[in-house]
Amino acid sequence: MKKYILEVNNLCKKYGNTLVLQQVSLSVPTGSIYGLIGENGAGKTTLFRILAGLSRQTSGSMVLVNANTEAEIIKQRRNIGFMIEAPALYPNLSVLENLYISQLQYCGKKDVDDAKRTLELVGLCAQKQKRAKHLSLGMKQRLSLAVALLHNPKVLILDEPTNGLDPMGMIAFRQLLLKLNADNKISIVISSHILNELEHIATHYGFLHKGRLLKEISSPDIFKSADSLEHYYENMMGDYRQ
Ligand code: ATP
Repeated sequence: MKKYILEVNNLCKKYGNTLVLQQVSLSVPTGSIYGLIGENGAGKTTLFRILAGLSRQTSGSMVLVNANTEAEIIKQRRNIGFMIEAPALYPNLSVLENLYISQLQYCGKKDVDDAKRTLELVGLCAQKQKRAKHLSLGMKQRLSLAVALLHNPKVLILDEPTNGLDPMGMIAFRQLLLKLNADNKISIVISSHILNELEHIATHYGFLHKGRLLKEISSPDIFKSADSLEHYYENMMGDYRQ
């Protein structure tokens, strides 16, 4: 097994004359839950959009699930499930129908058993006939996760997936991610501003600040010098405050 499931090397992204990602290099260990942390505007979503192929880097390269040429990367994106920005669900269709539409889009065919298995995985079986517009926010997040999981990815890339969830919703979502990581061997990259939430699940961290990757560190190494992720982050950012 390869040591890293995702690698990014010297990635730069410019919007006009503004450099929003500057020589970002990071490595996501296979099997890890990698927390990407950064203030508003640090560049997290920009990085995820580039990984997803929704935006193109200005320079730099990446290795996604062993693929390093453009053609291979396009193929390997099938092994990655993305949940970036607001979920594109069809509000008037049922939960199950939303999954069928995604299957048709991404896999070219409807697979009833697979859709039901995925709903079971994310705990949405009881809602399968409900229209998407009638779901609670937490259920919508679960449905978006189900869409990302439909093609049995090796990696999940989740941009602030617990945004807006209530405490129980967050706990349930966290347990679901831990289960997917442990039982289904899915590596996970997740961005979140809720540090004590990330602290419960992440095995590794990357800290992004104003488009630069300040540091990558494992969870045990964090606790060698701080009693919490929040304190570690506060101390580290103290050096970068203007
Ligand atoms: P947040 O935590 O608020 O979601 P983020 O870390 O995800 O922030 P990005 O959304 O990646 O940050 O934005 C990084 C920078 O790039 C910001 O300054 C943003 O204004 C800028 N930016 C993002 N998309 C565009 C765009 N399409 N055109 C111009 N600038 C953009």
